[in-house]
Amino acid sequence: MLSKILAKEECAKCRICCCFDSSDIWEAPVITQSKANKILKDYNAKQKFLSKDNHYILDMEKEADEDLYYCSMLDKHNGCIMKDEKPFDCRIWPFRIMDLNGTEVITLSPVCPVVKTHSLEELSEFAKELAPAIFEEAKVNPQIIKPYINGYPILAVNAD
Ligand code: SF4
Ligand code: SF4
Repeated sequence: MLSKILAKEECAKCRICCCFDSSDIWEAPVITQSKANKILKDYNAKQKFLSKDNHYILDMEKEADEDLYYCSMLDKHNGCIMKDEKPFDCRIWPFRIMDLNGTEVITLSPVCPVVKTHSLEELSEFAKELAPAIFEEAKVNPQIIKPYINGYPILAVNAD
């Protein structure tokens, strides 16, 4: 969904958002029941899931001597094995949908080194283009809405 502002080649060199530590494991993608079924059927029949607030997250193995968890869908040479079927959170990353005092807002994670090279004006324009699809997904799958974090730039607001 972000190909206008993020080239696959840039992600191939980075992979930051497919690796977590204990402070940002909350960023692990929301896995719906249907996505979990798809993963078991098409990607890894042995994948385990952790249950969390009406959804799942992938059970990822901690690296031996580091506080690091690589996503179990990540092939370190070829990227996400799910490609266009990756979870919705991953398809919109580094945009996030958050709840700010009862209002849904689209924010920007400061972590992505590539997207933050664009101006906030440009990113706001793009976020507004994506907003209808993101707000629609949040109606069906409200688990993707995270509490607002102070300092995250707000790019679009759900006026409904
Ligand atoms: S952090 Fe940004 S550049 Fe890096 S892999 Fe994720 S989306 Fe791509
Ligand atoms: S599902 Fe794919 S894109 Fe999402 S965190 Fe895992 S490897 Fe990265």
